[in-house]
Amino acid sequence: MGIPYFDAHCDTIARCLALPDQGLQENTGHVDLVRGTQLGRYAQIFALYHSPGAAPPDGMLAQCKRLYHRFAQEMDENAGLVQHCRTGADIDQAVAQGKMAALLSIEGADLLDCDPAQVALAAGWGVKFLNLTWNYGNAVSGSNSRESDRGLSPQGRDFVRELERCGIYPDVSHLSDPGFWDLCRMARGPVVASHSNSRAICPHPRNLTDDQFQAIRDSGGVVGINFYRPFVGDGDSLELLTAHIEHFLNLGGEKTVCFGGDLDGCDVLAGGLQGLQDIPLLYEALKGRGYPASLLEDLFWNNLRRMIR
Ligand SMILES: [Zn+2]
Repeated sequence: MGIPYFDAHCDTIARCLALPDQGLQENTGHVDLVRGTQLGRYAQIFALYHSPGAAPPDGMLAQCKRLYHRFAQEMDENAGLVQHCRTGADIDQAVAQGKMAALLSIEGADLLDCDPAQVALAAGWGVKFLNLTWNYGNAVSGSNSRESDRGLSPQGRDFVRELERCGIYPDVSHLSDPGFWDLCRMARGPVVASHSNSRAICPHPRNLTDDQFQAIRDSGGVVGINFYRPFVGDGDSLELLTAHIEHFLNLGGEKTVCFGGDLDGCDVLAGGLQGLQDIPLLYEALKGRGYPASLLEDLFWNNLRRMIR
């Protein structure tokens, strides 16, 4: 019996689109279906991502549609292995059939031209999480990399309201701190951070302060632990990664912490991890630290599964 793994963020679809010989079934990146089959249960939220700094001539929305179509094509071509899931019931059914569950997110409102009128399109595709920004500021908000003192614009507030109306969770990973608090003040439902660590453990602006973590927890959302080494800290041990998990658990995060490894979205992973094939090492490391089975099940599956209704 393999282990469960439900991950909130990877950039594999952008990699597949950029590199035609690197399909989802088997590739030389961090995530593919062959490696996914080695896990006992595997669900993955695939981000549609493209850098706003390299927008194609026909624009970001057109690129977003190309990314979605590449995702849909991969689902069709690998229908025996993986199923696109829009609901929690879809996930449970895919797992019962021995298939991997694939879900969608969008990384950066830029990919919808920051236009609230395009949110319904994404919802129709089954998008579940949407990062308001990537590393660039946009018409919705500043990011925590650029224009980091700028919060949500009036258009950004309209965008968030439309996300909530359409059943898509606003995702704060990459968002500026003022944007984070603007969002938390206006949110009517859960706020998520799909791939962000603890700033108390690793003081990087991409990571969350304790107050931010607790605000997400109190909203009913989740925080996905990111494996990208610069967000984990100096050093190369799995202990450094588990320090982020344990810090969040000590903040009352037993039902909040999940994983959002940023696989295929970064070049170097922490703790010697090489990709999806090494998730069992992480599971065993936490088990070795005395985590009870019920907590492992929450971290590796239930906490994120609960978000998808
Ligand atoms: Zn990211």
